[in-house]
Amino acid sequence: EKKVYRFDEGNAGMRDLLGGKGANLAEMSNAGLPVPPGFTITTEACNDFFVNEEVLSDELMEQVTQAIADLENRTGKKLGHPENPLLVSVRSGAKFSMPGMMDTILNLGLNDQTAAGLAEQTGNPRFAYDSYRRFIQMFGDVVLGIEHYKFEEIIMDVKEKRGVQLDPQLDADDWKKVIDLYKTLIKKETGQEFLQDPIEQLKQSIHAVFSSWNNTRAKIYRKMNHIPDDLGTAVNVQTMVFGNTGEESGTGVCFTRNPSTGEKKLYGEFLLNAQGEDVVAGIRTPQPIAELQDSMPDIYEQLVAICNQLELSYKDMQDIEFTIENRHLYILQTRSGKRTTQAAIRIAVNMAREGILTREEALMRIQPEQLDHMLHRRIDPDASLKTWAKGLPASPGAASGQIVFDADQAEALTKQGKKVVLVRPETTPEDIHGILAAQGILTSRGGMTSHAAVVARGMGKACVCGCEQLKIDLRNKTVTTEDITLREGDLLSIDGGTGQVFIGEVPMIDPELSPEFQELLAWADEKRKLSVRTNADNPSDARKARELGAEGIGLCRTEHMFMDPERVPIVQEMILAEHEDERKQALARLLPIQKEDFKGIFQAMDGCPVNIRLLDPPLHEFLPHLEELLVEITKLQVTGQEATPEYRQKENLMKKVRALHEFNPMLGHRGCRLGMVYPEIYRMQVEAIFKAAVECIEEGVRVEPEIMIPLVGHVQELKRMRVLVEEVAEEIMRQSQMAVSYKVGTMIEVPRAALTADQIAGKADFFSFGTNDLTQTTFGYSRDDAEGKFLHIYVEQGVLPHNPFISIDREGVGELVRIGVEKGRQVKPGLKTGICGEHGGEKASIQFCHEVGLDYVSCSPFRVPLARLAAAQAAI
Ligand code: ADP
Ligand code: MG
Ligand code: MG
Repeated sequence: EKKVYRFDEGNAGMRDLLGGKGANLAEMSNAGLPVPPGFTITTEACNDFFVNEEVLSDELMEQVTQAIADLENRTGKKLGHPENPLLVSVRSGAKFSMPGMMDTILNLGLNDQTAAGLAEQTGNPRFAYDSYRRFIQMFGDVVLGIEHYKFEEIIMDVKEKRGVQLDPQLDADDWKKVIDLYKTLIKKETGQEFLQDPIEQLKQSIHAVFSSWNNTRAKIYRKMNHIPDDLGTAVNVQTMVFGNTGEESGTGVCFTRNPSTGEKKLYGEFLLNAQGEDVVAGIRTPQPIAELQDSMPDIYEQLVAICNQLELSYKDMQDIEFTIENRHLYILQTRSGKRTTQAAIRIAVNMAREGILTREEALMRIQPEQLDHMLHRRIDPDASLKTWAKGLPASPGAASGQIVFDADQAEALTKQGKKVVLVRPETTPEDIHGILAAQGILTSRGGMTSHAAVVARGMGKACVCGCEQLKIDLRNKTVTTEDITLREGDLLSIDGGTGQVFIGEVPMIDPELSPEFQELLAWADEKRKLSVRTNADNPSDARKARELGAEGIGLCRTEHMFMDPERVPIVQEMILAEHEDERKQALARLLPIQKEDFKGIFQAMDGCPVNIRLLDPPLHEFLPHLEELLVEITKLQVTGQEATPEYRQKENLMKKVRALHEFNPMLGHRGCRLGMVYPEIYRMQVEAIFKAAVECIEEGVRVEPEIMIPLVGHVQELKRMRVLVEEVAEEIMRQSQMAVSYKVGTMIEVPRAALTADQIAGKADFFSFGTNDLTQTTFGYSRDDAEGKFLHIYVEQGVLPHNPFISIDREGVGELVRIGVEKGRQVKPGLKTGICGEHGGEKASIQFCHEVGLDYVSCSPFRVPLARLAAAQAAI
């Protein structure tokens, strides 16, 4: 079985087997790009390795040995040869890129002899010993598990003794000293000498890279990014090229477009006289790529040409690693670049305009959930703020919070509900949980392609990096500029779009949609079949939603209007009324208030349909809790106030609360069952709707009210409620001498309604599937109890594939929706159907709504753009 592929045997389509890095190295080799030769060990070999209790099979090692021999032939060098040694890198590379999560070893093949040989051969002993110490360090870290900082400390000591600041200032003898100290460290930590046999070095490195698939940070990263755990990683063994031979050499990373803003401009960084990870590790802050144009114009031009070629061939923005060895350019990796949502949108739209992508392809490039990031608040540009420090704008968005200096602390405080900004000299993959928890990240070292920046962009977190004015003292937990010191817990704000850092909190404003975003959504609107409405019960939400593209209101909940603290006493009076007359008096006082509510919403929606649901929750929700009342009553008793009117009123209230008590309020006296028992409540609401409509029409505002009866389970309920609505509507129209066109329909939110949808449709102009309640009533779960107590266990154990309150359960709840639509349309072909549960703002559920042929989805205002895009993707 073939477990090893030479780069020229693969291609970009073989990601499953060769991993993303291997497949792309193969593709680039075959396209004639300057890729150092090498070979890839397959992900299957990795999975075998885990099945085989982490032992590398003889079969595999045989194929590896052959591939090495082949590499030796092609390069004219030999592994372990004292005068002309072949050196290789051993690189991890899974199907989906997991930057920095797994391990890579460079300069393998060096030992005491070959290092001396390399020094001789190149006439550059500084380079040879720098390479050797790097190899020992990486091998020590990755294979032997010796902590990274122990090596760094040794370098720091040597630099201090020599009185220099930067690694490249050390000479060959210094590096030899470092090597001796490294070897002593290794002896001390492992009890053994540093491994000299190159084949054994290779074997152990392959072993370690395979194992790194299962290190903790890789597991966390996969979980976060929904990457399956059983894919395994490939291993790439590649001939080394050297960016650390001197000032004519270097290494860098570049993006074919700006990954933060999406601007079409080569974007990247490089370091002269450096190797591999130096750029991303944030050890030295690199130079911007534009400076390469000045120092090595020919190389720069070659790089630009290659970038263009790669972008066109992959039809996507590429993130490219390169190394320059003595003015020769080599490409070491290409992959689709991680980017902010803002950049993703701009790139997709521009690529469609440039003809690289079709509009459909551009639409498919954006994950609907990502759009959330676009709707983040940002710092008010009109606020006059004093910038405390300025770094690189690594990932846009604004963040405010308490300063914390380590990832664990960030996680702990966030769990307590605090907002934090993680402040670090640089971050490493071990900090990932802290980055996830924090509002934003601020680093004092490292460039735009440093670890912190890459990870933050991927997560849509604000990040400012390379803020070099800041002196961060991790031991004393302070961050200092020349004159000001802040401590852990102090408030700090960052703007990842500008790189600015502010002391304290700063004013924020709502987001705006960029022109590219608008254009993308306009393309989505052309494609989608579903219309998109919003759930809104006040004018300002309604306006916001229209700005974001909502075409109507799919659910206006009237109970929120009753909850307003000023109105609660009137509502309570209404509930406490002993007789219908008393109740009507209270309702009469609510009427004008409710009418103004509807007017405001009609005005905001300006002619778009507005679906208003009559009162739904059980009445006791508007009364105080029994426990609270008991406490108050007891207090009055203890202080001898039993004769006061206040006491009597409280006692009355308590009686009513007791009377309204329900064993299972979710299935109790609510929805249209309220309208059946207290028709005067629904009459008042309908009157308010029609009076508001009439006034709007008089003012020249078009209105299209849809009156929705909740929780219907039997056609007889709807039949009666419809009569009620029609009576009131006709009365108002007669009084005002004005015609208002309107619809009456129902929510379908109990199984019986879906199953008898043909009967119900006879009395309904529309169905709105209330899938929150329909999920509760279909599963028999009360959501609040289920989510806290057992649902997560069901999901973890795979009883359910996902939480059905978040993404619709197609087989059960979805089936009821399908039946409801089908039966309803049999009776009434033009029946309007929509969904108004939270599912209306979730990608997979929207796909489902498209498939069953609903007319619209309705979701919260900020989800409207997501729904527009998801509906388009469903139609493509
Ligand atoms: P990661 O997946 O973490 O980016 P890589 O395998 O890409 O790890 O390697 C890390 C660094 O080492 C990269 O900067 C890469 O350019 C460099 N590198 C890898 N192989 C070679 C090589 N053969 N010659 C020179 N540099 C290399
Ligand atoms: Mg890489
Ligand atoms: Mg409901």
